[in-house]
Amino acid sequence: MKIPAVLVTSLLLAAPLRSETQPTRVDLEARLAPADPGTAPLYGVLTPLFLDHLERTVSKDRLAELWKATDRNAFLALLEKVTGRDLLETGERMFEALEKDAVRAPAPPGDWVNSEAGPFTLHMRPDSAAQRDLALIEKDATETWTRVAALLDLSEAVDASHRLLAGDGRIDVYLHAARAGEGKDRLGHGHGGTSLGGTIVDGKGRLTTRIDVLYLNAFSLAVLEHEVAHAVVLLAAFDAAAFAKHALEDKAGLKTAFLAAYRKVPAFLHEGLGDYALYHHGLQKSWGLLPEPRKILTSLRASGKTLPLEELLAGDVRFRAKNHKVFSLEAAAFLDFLLATRGKELVRRWLFSGEPNGAKSFAKVFGTGIDALEKEFWSR
Ligand SMILES: [Zn+2]
Repeated sequence: MKIPAVLVTSLLLAAPLRSETQPTRVDLEARLAPADPGTAPLYGVLTPLFLDHLERTVSKDRLAELWKATDRNAFLALLEKVTGRDLLETGERMFEALEKDAVRAPAPPGDWVNSEAGPFTLHMRPDSAAQRDLALIEKDATETWTRVAALLDLSEAVDASHRLLAGDGRIDVYLHAARAGEGKDRLGHGHGGTSLGGTIVDGKGRLTTRIDVLYLNAFSLAVLEHEVAHAVVLLAAFDAAAFAKHALEDKAGLKTAFLAAYRKVPAFLHEGLGDYALYHHGLQKSWGLLPEPRKILTSLRASGKTLPLEELLAGDVRFRAKNHKVFSLEAAAFLDFLLATRGKELVRRWLFSGEPNGAKSFAKVFGTGIDALEKEFWSR
């Protein structure tokens, strides 16, 4: 086909003009990049994955609007505008989309391969996303472990329980590549889980613990950080001395000893510390693109998506199941507030109270109901 000369000329003219005036994704990625890459080491890993997701789910016109963002704040404001969703919802949608692939993926054939990092043995499938990201995962898991323990001076309590671990004394972390098969058995519909149990080895009580994470891409580090925090809290709250005291002969004895040593931690504190690990230290900081957790929370509150602290602490199971991310983000922000205004010793005492009713133990330790702090918390 012969193309008219006029058209060819106009095409030639249009091409360079367009690239000068139309902002692109590449420009945006460069514009939002941290001046010092060391301050946000995961920017280059997570940002492309996030923008890939947006390119798959947002129309081209709206994306063109997003690429115009001049800085991080403008980007975040435009993001809500073009997706019509708050940041937590966008995050959830992204996991749902990733998840679709994970649900379709067949149970991976072959054996697990493993690698040791700090107190963990990481198990993954050959050629999986986890194996590709292994260096990131090793660093992330060990740093989270150290940070959460340091946050409330838990190292001694964690070590005491850690010494009781059965087998080689390491914490097994299974990074599932798909939901099929073992992934489903271990995780159900969730993305992560952490368990603590007991067993008898040579007449003595020993602990077993393992973490399971559905590892889809580097965003799954958020799940890993949350679960590692759970492991720290579970081991720290467990009364190792009380457990070791019992001479064990059978399963009944094991159960008695385990229950005597197991201190239940209120969901508010457990989930709050889980998300504290990722919003106040881990992924939030290493990505460098998310707003401060308090900012996310304030805008959720403005749209009526948060709960009064008293209800949050009472742990409405239905709210928690439906709004898991809001629940743990708000709990994390409140813990941050408590640490800053009341100090770590009181939060620590609350964690070790062993009282399953969080409202009761809170009042005992802090000398007031949580509702009395509502105003102070939100006005900070
Ligand atoms: Zn959790």
